[in-house]
Amino acid sequence: MDRLSSIAGRLISEHSLTTEEYAFLIENRTPEITELLKEAAVRLRKEIYGNAVFTRGLIEISNICRNDCLYCGIRKSNRNCDRYRLSREDILLCADEGYTLGFRTFVMQGGEDPYFTDDVLEDLVREIKRRHPDCAVTLSMGERSRESYERLYAAGADRYLLRHETADPDHYRKLHPPAMSYEHRMHCLAELKDIGYQVGCGMMVGSPYQTVRNLAQDLKFIETFKPDMCGIGPFIPHKDTPFRAEPAGTLELTCFLLSVIRLIHPPVLLPATTALGTIHPLGREKGIQAGANVVMPNLSPVSVRKKYELYDNKICTGDESAQCRGCLNLRMESIGYELVTDRGDIRKEGF
Ligand code: SAH
Repeated sequence: MDRLSSIAGRLISEHSLTTEEYAFLIENRTPEITELLKEAAVRLRKEIYGNAVFTRGLIEISNICRNDCLYCGIRKSNRNCDRYRLSREDILLCADEGYTLGFRTFVMQGGEDPYFTDDVLEDLVREIKRRHPDCAVTLSMGERSRESYERLYAAGADRYLLRHETADPDHYRKLHPPAMSYEHRMHCLAELKDIGYQVGCGMMVGSPYQTVRNLAQDLKFIETFKPDMCGIGPFIPHKDTPFRAEPAGTLELTCFLLSVIRLIHPPVLLPATTALGTIHPLGREKGIQAGANVVMPNLSPVSVRKKYELYDNKICTGDESAQCRGCLNLRMESIGYELVTDRGDIRKEGF
């Protein structure tokens, strides 16, 4: 058997490869191997989760950010970004509306906005859990102190999403300003896990300066860290960032990596992201068909949606939450999957 087939076979049977082997697999992938891994990924996902696709209601609570990530449309130096912050009342209304629409997980995501102190966030988490005790609350509010993560966990937050962005320190430096560090980001991820959160990491596919080796390092990190969730989507340039002229990541490579990640860590919750739906009209469907099992429709008020613009041409910025929900329902049904309304916790038994 040739090296490519033998590596692919071992990924399927052992869920683990060396970093060099991951790089070889990415570099030398063929349509046939892509198809083989996709089928194995879908089979495995079906064994664990059937044809269920979990939904998370995304509430984009603020686009004010103290950070200056070079790829991100809401970076501090973007003077053209029309800043907003949702009020407590706005956020709670989004969650209430989401609950009525059948969402049982709410993700509060935002820039690193200093207004959201521990006191403010704690109160929000508590209030959402008080109103909707059967729901999971996920936070995606960037890097905070251990004490802060502990307080929010004690207040009832169940999950935390913090993409690692890249598992290579040199690559990390090319994507972020000097004030940010790879070490700190990884430290935060380790602390979140230690505290007891269900943790999500992840990276962009095709981010500037990314090499095949970098992606292989990301895969090795995912293999060892074993995140409960893993968010990957294509990099898409934003017109008001230094990376405005860089090419976007591709649907093909993103879907390939979704299959590989499913095979590395079978129970992982893997979203077919909005970015994937932005680079191709059927991107999210193709993501699910490659091994993803989560979608994250937007619950933010329509009045602010356009302003949470991490990248150009983000989809679903004009639709009401109910429309988003209905549209995704139809999209998932069209490919033989079912949007389900439970909390969608990870099923780790046996892994
Ligand atoms: N402040 C939070 C939330 C960041 S936004 C945090 O630091 O975790 C969520 C994710 O969007 C980021 O982690 C990044 O991977 C992704 N993102 C940002 N800019 C992007 C772009 N131009 N293209 C694609 N994804 C992008």
